[in-house]
Amino acid sequence: MNECTICPHKCKVDRSKNLGRCRAGDKIELGGISLHKFEEPCISGENGSGTIFFSKCNLNCVFCQNYEISNQGHGKKIEIEDLADAMIKHQESGAENINLVSPTIYADQIKKSIKIAKENGLKIPIIYNTNGYENIETLKSLDGYIDIYLPDLKYYYQETALKYSGVKNYFEITTNAIKEMYRQVGAPQFNEKGMITKGLIIRHLVLPNNIENTKEVLKWIKENIAQEVYVSIMMQYFPAYQAKEYNEINRKLTKEEYQEIEKYIYDIGIENGYIQDYSEEDEEQYVPKWDY
Ligand code: SF4
Repeated sequence: MNECTICPHKCKVDRSKNLGRCRAGDKIELGGISLHKFEEPCISGENGSGTIFFSKCNLNCVFCQNYEISNQGHGKKIEIEDLADAMIKHQESGAENINLVSPTIYADQIKKSIKIAKENGLKIPIIYNTNGYENIETLKSLDGYIDIYLPDLKYYYQETALKYSGVKNYFEITTNAIKEMYRQVGAPQFNEKGMITKGLIIRHLVLPNNIENTKEVLKWIKENIAQEVYVSIMMQYFPAYQAKEYNEINRKLTKEEYQEIEKYIYDIGIENGYIQDYSEEDEEQYVPKWDY
């Protein structure tokens, strides 16, 4: 990793000596490990998804719910072998899959860990749960290691991506990445228990006062990705981290916004996927407590 080009920022720093935009060193840093039951039903199943949360991130989303590990960088440095062990332990405790959350900046190390874990008997599917801001070359190097891609497609508009995540070219980069993910794993396949074993699910978090952004994202998916691919529309937004400094996103979705998106999904004919129910509950309860 002499000149890091793992993600589209292409900082070209030697991460053993200097920090790039993500501020990650050359060792894996973990924010937490848990059996997580609040993912999509085909991912959580009865036993929960074996989540492994990585520390640091290549985006700086102002509303990040995991900001303590992604933006503030809390975490614990571990070795490649430790990550392989964590995967095996998840399998032993009954996890339905291995769910690598924000893995992008450690993609090289993760490949080595997966190889060791497979040699040691890892059989459950591996999920790459990413913000979508990925290099095609890095994704190509993951071909064969990843069973399920779970990318976000957050923004259609450049100015929105720049304002909330600090990148201009999010839509172009992420839509190209999603096409590569689809090339590798195709549409979702399920086992007899209804659990996903392979395939692509695209996630989108609806932001308040940004309904046109959501509509454009969904329209792109409908027009460019096979109908069989699942779309997961997340409505549980709440203003976390720095979102309170942006008036327009400093609240939850209204019922009217929820209904407008729900109607749009049916109007344009998206058939496969998940949409969260409208809820006035305190969604913060679903954010994991970080154990680093
Ligand atoms: S992974 Fe980090 S250091 Fe490497 S290119 Fe991306 S932001 Fe820069």
